Amino acid sequence: MLPFKLIYHDRYDLNLGSHIFPARKYRLIRQRLLETGVAEEADFLAPCPARDEDILLVHEAEWVKRLRTGTLDYLQLLKLELPYSRQMVEGFWLAAGGTLLASQLAMTQGAGVNIGGGFHHAFAGHGEGFCAIHDVAVAVRAMQREGRLRRVLIVDCDVHQGNGTAAIFTGDAEVFTFSIHQRDNYPYEKPHSHLDVNLEDGVGDEEYLRLLDEGLAKAVEFSRPEMVQYVAGADPYERDQLGGLNVTLGGLRARDNLVMDWARRAGAPVVVTLAGGYAEETADTVAIHCATIEAVARALVGGHAE
Ligand SMILES: [Zn+2]
Repeated sequence: MLPFKLIYHDRYDLNLGSHIFPARKYRLIRQRLLETGVAEEADFLAPCPARDEDILLVHEAEWVKRLRTGTLDYLQLLKLELPYSRQMVEGFWLAAGGTLLASQLAMTQGAGVNIGGGFHHAFAGHGEGFCAIHDVAVAVRAMQREGRLRRVLIVDCDVHQGNGTAAIFTGDAEVFTFSIHQRDNYPYEKPHSHLDVNLEDGVGDEEYLRLLDEGLAKAVEFSRPEMVQYVAGADPYERDQLGGLNVTLGGLRARDNLVMDWARRAGAPVVVTLAGGYAEETADTVAIHCATIEAVARALVGGHAE
């Protein structure tokens, strides 16, 4: 039995068919964790959808209403890059509820994992790049409102810059945003995070890990976090279809260990969300996400990572 909960819901699957976003990955991750003995049924916990009052701590009422009532206009749908459906909207509300639940549990368990979420391209008033609701921001704001914490560090290792995160927390003295991403890739307009590391095309393990380590050192020192929100995108992977870096499976494991090590040095609980992953083989994306969860387990149980 794991020392932390895995938050998961069957309806995280946005039912997108052959869309490039492999929403079925969530179900496959759960399956693989069970098959490999990393987790057992009792480790999983289903979230409730986020409450609208929590969603509204981040998002504009008009955007929430349009999602609820299915009245997105053409441009809004174009930016979101997802076909509209009730099930899609329900999936985003569940993902936000899931990241909040993972955050609440992390305060006592040291870590919380949402097998979903990490929708870092969502802005307060619109959605972009497969992200309609910013689950991480909703969780952070809700936790702050409950008085559970003040200072949060968001570490975004998805290959695409966390533009929604940066925009939402611009000028916020308590939430520090750190994004390490491929420079010449989506999103082409990158609002400034508190710390951005812009990587050249084709960066491999060694350089990636060195720059991540340096970035984490700065981010932790500056933010003195009471919680780390780790957006653990699988798309820096060398065989990702939407990424242009050359990070190997081993490099990604080292990345996870590095984030966990820095969080422990900061004495902060960690909340993991999955974000992107578009490997040619969905099995690779699933394996990367599962390895992240194993890194969390090792860090909590054994202290040091492999
Ligand atoms: Zn991505």
